[in-house]
Amino acid sequence: MYVIKSTDKMKAIMGEYFRSLESGSKKVAWCTSVGPAELLRSFGFEVYFPENHGALLGATRTAMDVIPEAIKSGYSGHVCSYTTADIGSYLRGDTPLKKHYGMKGHPKPDLIAYNTNQCREVQDWFYFFANEFNCPIVGITPPRYIEEVTQNEVNLVVDQFKAMIPVCEMVSGQKFSEDNFKETVRLSKEATLLWQKVLKTSTAMNAPISFFDGTIHMGPIVVLRGTQIAKDYYTELLAELEDNVKNNRGFLPQARTRIFWEGMPIWGKLRMLSDLFASNGAAVVASTYCSSWVFDKFDENDPWNSTARAYTEIFINRGEKAKMKMLSEWFNEYHIDGIIYHDSKTCFNNSNAKFGMPQRLKSLTGVPALVIEGDLCDLRFFSEGQSITKIETFIEQLEENKVEQ
Ligand code: SF4
Repeated sequence: MYVIKSTDKMKAIMGEYFRSLESGSKKVAWCTSVGPAELLRSFGFEVYFPENHGALLGATRTAMDVIPEAIKSGYSGHVCSYTTADIGSYLRGDTPLKKHYGMKGHPKPDLIAYNTNQCREVQDWFYFFANEFNCPIVGITPPRYIEEVTQNEVNLVVDQFKAMIPVCEMVSGQKFSEDNFKETVRLSKEATLLWQKVLKTSTAMNAPISFFDGTIHMGPIVVLRGTQIAKDYYTELLAELEDNVKNNRGFLPQARTRIFWEGMPIWGKLRMLSDLFASNGAAVVASTYCSSWVFDKFDENDPWNSTARAYTEIFINRGEKAKMKMLSEWFNEYHIDGIIYHDSKTCFNNSNAKFGMPQRLKSLTGVPALVIEGDLCDLRFFSEGQSITKIETFIEQLEENKVEQ
């Protein structure tokens, strides 16, 4: 059986990271998953990411138990289920962080920071906790859905980043240090470029890491970017995967088709979906989701402009033309036969199947598309039987297309 050996190391790193949040040795800043983590770390904060907790609630299928608590307190069951699961988990005083990492509960924030580059939902979500903990909160609100990011947008975001400094200084008790900031940006850049190389190992025809593996191994690039720990982890993982490519070891050597996954993972069904694709000879080799933590514009010699640009030009914050260009390039690079769009019920922002893009992208690239409905955490919106039928039929059609070609 194919296994990625570095998985044990990754689990140990994530365990240490979570326990460090409660150790009391550092102040804790909460941050959105593509928020200004480098700036926060430069002040010595340990950084906690509530979306990562949302994913954990989804993956452990405990989200369904706690979402009703958030609904009872006034949150719609149709808004982001990371938000409702995380708030519900807090209200109920129950979190998988206790069972899986021995923590007492949600780590307490000293500062909360968000960036609406991904969605406005994070603002509402984080304000709930700022009120709850009576905690200072800072926000970045960049222009949204941009085709080409110009210096005007970058300047605006740089100003907003810099406006965070007095609050960070007050809460951390540390003066801003440009050298510290440059150093965290350097470490973050090195880790993110390694992560990019990790993902690109699956351009090999016998791909060594699937989208489903990627959703697990992305943990350190989300929560520990800007640290030596993340850089060391991806150095090790990359070496293992490159060795596997060299020795023709992959997760599905008998793959007959190669699939691109677009949109959010369905966290509570990762294993089921991974097995479904494998049993149908389809390798899911790439995704927009895992690529969302590739910030290849980071430059420690120009830390303000480069981080503002990298965080503003992420896939989710782009206009349709820019998204289609990025997807077309990924299709070529990963030799994609078909794309599956996960049209997530509670994440409008990271669902690209609502305004006709699948049809337009198919006309442009010739790559067939399938849309499945589901959700990141709330499995009420996912019909397993119907999705299996749709996916199996789609894979059959892709195989027939290949035979005819
Ligand atoms: S991008 Fe989607 S899943 Fe992520 S926080 Fe925003 S609404 Fe929730």
